[in-house]
Amino acid sequence: MAAVAVAVASFSWGKYSERQTLLEEYNVFRLSTKAIHMLQKERGLTVKSLFRPTPSNINELQLWRAETSAAILKLSNTSLSREISGRQIRLRGLSDSNAISLEDCFLEYSDIIYEIIATYSSDKSYEHIQHDHLFLSLMNLLMAREHLGKIRARISMSAMNNFLDGESQFYVKEKFGFYKISKEEFLKSLKGKYPGYVGIVADDEKVKKTEAAISLYLDGRQQEFDYDSWFGMSTGAMDVYYSVEGTLADTYGQYLKYEKRKAQLTGLLILCVTALVLLVSGLFVGRFIKSFSARVENIDDKMRFILRTNDYKIEITDQSHDEISGISNSLNSLLKFTNQLLEEKEKMASTDRLTGVYNRTKFVDIFNSEFQRFSRYKTPFSVIMMDIDHFKIVNDTYGHNVGDDVLVEVASMASKIIRATDILVRWGGEEFVVLAPSSELHSAVALAEKLRSVIAGHSFPSGLKVTMSFGVAEIDESDSLKTIMARADAALYESKRTGRNKVCTFSAIK
Ligand code: GH3
Ligand code: MG
Ligand code: MG
Repeated sequence: MAAVAVAVASFSWGKYSERQTLLEEYNVFRLSTKAIHMLQKERGLTVKSLFRPTPSNINELQLWRAETSAAILKLSNTSLSREISGRQIRLRGLSDSNAISLEDCFLEYSDIIYEIIATYSSDKSYEHIQHDHLFLSLMNLLMAREHLGKIRARISMSAMNNFLDGESQFYVKEKFGFYKISKEEFLKSLKGKYPGYVGIVADDEKVKKTEAAISLYLDGRQQEFDYDSWFGMSTGAMDVYYSVEGTLADTYGQYLKYEKRKAQLTGLLILCVTALVLLVSGLFVGRFIKSFSARVENIDDKMRFILRTNDYKIEITDQSHDEISGISNSLNSLLKFTNQLLEEKEKMASTDRLTGVYNRTKFVDIFNSEFQRFSRYKTPFSVIMMDIDHFKIVNDTYGHNVGDDVLVEVASMASKIIRATDILVRWGGEEFVVLAPSSELHSAVALAEKLRSVIAGHSFPSGLKVTMSFGVAEIDESDSLKTIMARADAALYESKRTGRNKVCTFSAIK
């Protein structure tokens, strides 16, 4: 998008600067056409005063020279003007001191004029304007005027030499041919586009009369040729060309200015549109990045929280259906899996592998929380310690595997007998502990008695019979885990000592 904008902007800038150059070239060209006009007239007046050096002719020439110098001065910033002024000053000196022939003076002036015209037709500094349609029309007009100027001077001069001489006739014939070509080219190039200009040049009476006079001259009909009015008449025709040239050049200048302004405005418009497009796309990208970073931040916050709290049950919520929500979903799967692993690990750490009931580690946690509850609400609890009688013999007689089965079955039976809130723990070996919350000693004894009788009455595989001895103790405010377990153990020991398959309490020992 930005690349397209830059390309369009540089294209319009190129267009604008091209128009600008064209206009600059035109401005110099315009000054030069004025200078050419002045030089043409100076050429005519110089020839005239060399031919007839009357005070009025000389005075007219002097006045006109000032005008020409002023016009050339306006071209002062071009290398062309320096060259023209140099040649012109030299030429004026020569003509003033009569050191140059009338013909040579005429040719020198023509050469200067030709140099200016040639500059515009071929010089590289005007390469833009050279290809412009209206410029070419103007050049043709200029050329027609210049050929007419030469014809005017040559016929004026030939009047001196009895009017008709072969050389002048040949010269005029040649220039009249060039004149007609230039004029035709001009009319052709503007036909249909600027009919007004075409009409002025084609229908002008002065132009028609001058052309007719030239034809008379070329036909050798000197009796009919009015020399006295020739200079004035041909000057009038040249002035028609000059005035058309001026108006057309002005129109051309306005057209170039308009084109430049158009390119300027188009460029400005493109620039505004480009800026707007960039702004809108910038806002869009900005908003996208903002929501993008907010969502990534949400994931980051959640992950930090999870790692800090180790609470892997949390889920990252993201409603979208893109790459970020894809990452969120993957992280959620990872969290779920981690949570399962942690739960399994916790279960393994807190349960006995053989029987599946809680182990001693877990018992410590349960005891602590139960003891806290007791301390706060005075809800008593009791522990029952139970041990399989003569289990060694079971192992010895039936083998260790059967012993294991017995342990598993005892744990399973006890789990079913106790309440949902009671906790069964494998204390170690063939010893189990039940923690009975909200139970005073007597209800714990009743539970122990139930356990004892059910187990004792149960037939294990292969008809095996097993009994268990029980020691029960109730919590006391001064207790710790160690002291209450010591009392339960002592009560159990009492059961063993007094015959096994029975329930004893610590108080009974006392
Ligand atoms: P008492 O009535 O005095 O308790 O006699 P007892 O034989 O049960 O006591 P003792 O402490 O002498 O023996 C306990 C036996 O329990 C010893 C051991 O081989 C057995 N035992 C401990 N843990 C396991 C176990 O995980 N599996 C099996 N099969 N036997 C075990
Ligand atoms: Mg034991
Ligand atoms: Mg035992």
